[in-house]
Amino acid sequence: MEAVIKFEEITFQDHPDTVRGLFLGRYYFDLDKTLLQEKIGKPAVKAGKIHFPVDQNHAEKRFNPLLDKAFDNLFHINYNKPTIYIHENTGIPLIGTNEFGIVDRGSNIIEIKPLTGCNFQCPYCSVDEGKNNKTHDYVVECEYLIQEAAKVAKIKKHPVEFHIGPQGEPMLYPKFVELVRGLNNIPNTKHVTVVTNGSLLTEKLIDELAAAGLTKINLSLNAASQETADAMSGKKYPLEHVKKMIQYCQGKINVILAPTIVPGWNDHEIEPLVQLGKGLKSEFPVMGLQNFLHYKKGRNVSHERSFDEFFEMIKPLEKKHGMKLTGFTKEDYQIFDDTKLEKPFKKNDIVKATIKLPARYPNETIAVYNDRCITVVGKGAEKLPMNKTVKLKIIRDKHNIFKGAL
Ligand code: SF4
Repeated sequence: MEAVIKFEEITFQDHPDTVRGLFLGRYYFDLDKTLLQEKIGKPAVKAGKIHFPVDQNHAEKRFNPLLDKAFDNLFHINYNKPTIYIHENTGIPLIGTNEFGIVDRGSNIIEIKPLTGCNFQCPYCSVDEGKNNKTHDYVVECEYLIQEAAKVAKIKKHPVEFHIGPQGEPMLYPKFVELVRGLNNIPNTKHVTVVTNGSLLTEKLIDELAAAGLTKINLSLNAASQETADAMSGKKYPLEHVKKMIQYCQGKINVILAPTIVPGWNDHEIEPLVQLGKGLKSEFPVMGLQNFLHYKKGRNVSHERSFDEFFEMIKPLEKKHGMKLTGFTKEDYQIFDDTKLEKPFKKNDIVKATIKLPARYPNETIAVYNDRCITVVGKGAEKLPMNKTVKLKIIRDKHNIFKGAL
C-alpha cells in the first residue's frame, strides 16, 4: 500500500528535517517530517512527490489540513520574505487596495496587480520595492485575478486595456504568460500591457508573450550608459541584453521607453535615450519620459521638478530630434473616460468590517467589508487579531481604494 501526494503547482523536495514544498517555482513552505510521520506515516520524497506507506484516501485526508496550515508560512524563495497567497477560497476581494488585485480609475484602463516584490532596488522607487522593511509580499491566484478582471471589463463601454503594473516587477509572477493570455481572452479586451524593468525579458518569453496577446511594454529603462543604469537600479543592470530585447520586440510587441528622470541622477541620459527610442516603431508614442515625483511611501532621493521646468528641459530635444516628447493626450495612449465601478460604501460611512490580512506597513492592517478590502489605519492596527470585527470610519474611497480609521 502506498499513497502518492502530488500537485500540479507544488514540487516537493527532501530536506534534513522537513519536506519543502516549492509553490509555482518561486515560493516555499516547510512541512515538519516528524509531524508528517506522526499524522500520516514516514514520508519519502521522489521526483517532486511525497510517498506515504498508507492508503491514498487516508493520506489525502490527513495531508490537506497540514498543507493549508503550511501555506500560512509561505516565503519568497529569493528573499525569504513571508508571502500571502490570495486565492478565491480565501474570500479576500481583489478590489479595495492599491497593493494587489485590481484598480479601476474610471477609464478604459484597468490596472492589474498580481504580486508585490521586485528584483531591483531603484533609489527612486515610488513604492519602496526590492529590499525594504515591509512585513511580507502578496501573490494573487492567476485564475481568480482573470475572473475578477473580466467582471470589471464588463461594465466598460470602450474596449479595455489591462495594464499589468504591480508594486514590483510583474515578470517575477510565476504565471505571467498565463495571466496575459487569460486577460487577452476576456471578450472586450483591446490591449494587455505591462510596465517592467526589462531585466527578465528573453527572446523565448517575448515570443510567448506576443502569442499570448501582450501588446505593449512600458520599459523603465533609465539610462543608455551602464554606469547610470546600474546606479538607477541599485544593482547591475543588464543593459546590453535589454537593448537587444527591445530590438527583438520590434514587429511583435510595442515598446515605450519610459525612463523616470530623477534630478541629478540621469538628466544627462535623456538625449541618449531619445536617440535609442528614435528608431523604434510603435502604435503608441515610443518615448514616455516620466518626471520624478515624491510619494509618501516612496524613496524620495532627490528634489521634484515642476512639470513646467520638466517640459522646458525636454522641449529643445523635440526640435533637435524631430520627435514628439511632450504634450501627449489621453487619445495618443488610447485612454478614454469610462463607466466607474460602483462604490458599495462611501467616505464618512461607518462600517463593521472583518480583519483578514496583514498590511505591509506599520500601524495598518486589511479588513474586508461588502466585497472590498479596506486598509485599516490607526495606532496598533497591525496588532488586531485576524477575523475580528471592527467598526471603521471610511476616510478614503477614491477609485474604490478604501481606507478606514478605527
Ligand atoms: S523596478 Fe520598479 S518596482 Fe522595482 S525597485 Fe525599480 S522602480 Fe521599484
